Amino acid sequence: MTNGPTLNPFEISQRQLDKAAEKLSLDPQVHALLREPMRTLQVQFPVKMDDGTTKVFTGFRVQYNDARGPTKGGIRFHPEETIDTVKALAAWMTWKCAVVDIPYGGGKGGVICNPKELSTSELERLARGYIRAIGRFIGPARDIPAPDVYTTPQIMAWMMDEYSKLVGYNTPGVITGKPIPLGGSLGRGDATARGAVYTILEAAKVIGLDLKNATVAIQGYGNAGYFAAKLMREIAGSKVVAVSDSRGGAYSPDGIDPEAAFEQKRSTGSVAGLAGTKPISNAELLELDVDVLIPAAIENVITEKNAESVKAKIIAEAANGPTTPEADEILYRNGKYLIPDFLCNAGGVTVSYFEWVQNIGGYYWSLEEVHERLRAKMTKAFHDVHEMAQQNDVDNRTAAYMVSVQRVAEAMRLRGWV
Ligand code: GLU
Repeated sequence: MTNGPTLNPFEISQRQLDKAAEKLSLDPQVHALLREPMRTLQVQFPVKMDDGTTKVFTGFRVQYNDARGPTKGGIRFHPEETIDTVKALAAWMTWKCAVVDIPYGGGKGGVICNPKELSTSELERLARGYIRAIGRFIGPARDIPAPDVYTTPQIMAWMMDEYSKLVGYNTPGVITGKPIPLGGSLGRGDATARGAVYTILEAAKVIGLDLKNATVAIQGYGNAGYFAAKLMREIAGSKVVAVSDSRGGAYSPDGIDPEAAFEQKRSTGSVAGLAGTKPISNAELLELDVDVLIPAAIENVITEKNAESVKAKIIAEAANGPTTPEADEILYRNGKYLIPDFLCNAGGVTVSYFEWVQNIGGYYWSLEEVHERLRAKMTKAFHDVHEMAQQNDVDNRTAAYMVSVQRVAEAMRLRGWV
């Protein structure tokens, strides 16, 4: 653990755990086991490029803890991927699966690459090469990957196919987030945002905020951001006044049509410049006087530098790790209602779990069943965390850790590990 503020995501995840461990008076051996991943794998693998050359790529897969079940978590294709980011995200997956009480441990994977510079066939060979490299470490009862930053259902399809070839039989349950015809679940596409919206509905009840026509700002317009905009409007009747992406943002006090923003991004590469809106920077968006702020982009955007200026009443972390520990303390002191990342964005993995259950059972559910079961999981998880926070007079992130760490620790104890 370091003394001063750090933006290393793994150190942040350890500091968050340490805080909860102290509140729980956690057994020191349990704490020691939970501070580091159970298993960390680094692979180097060759990929044939379109120009006939071969390039060597580096990939990671971290299996953080499997006391509650096989490890679960996405694969990122990112030019700045680091082992520490993957370790942090694998830790967060452990807490995420525990908070929504699904029978998984946590894992995460990543490949250092820039998918924007790869052709479709290079991307396919990269996906297959990575699966051949990690193939013997994953499996439906061992470790189940899924999409994450810059990985898609098509990539999951190639990966599932490669794994099936390795083992010699069709194995849809090895990976989730697949296209529907290959055993994907209905409702997986918007599940992360939908789960976040279900928690926002509960948070609004708790603080007495009427979401109808409430104002919403969303940072990031990828899968989570776009669907959050759409569903805040459809389910909650709220007004999305600002959206952004890495290249800029759009602001309109009269409200932004999520579909128009989507079309703007699709055709120009950014939501910025949308007709009828004013430009807004990512930094300005975070400080807007809105009811609900949804950081749905990257890590460490709310820091000790800008936390004091955050005006939103509810901060719903659809992204992983958007708030630093220093900022957490400021937001809590200022009475903000924070829905912490691994609770807020657990909808994705929850529907991944439903997908895996359907693959294993070989029987597929309707969209209504998926939505109903997702809502039940998210609502229960929200209230477990809210009650923990109230009872122990702690911030919501610490409370979420307390709920999850207790569950993982109990599984470890029952297995006789500690
Ligand atoms: N990558 C998503 C997450 O961070 C989903 C993981 C999964 O579905 O396994 O929660």
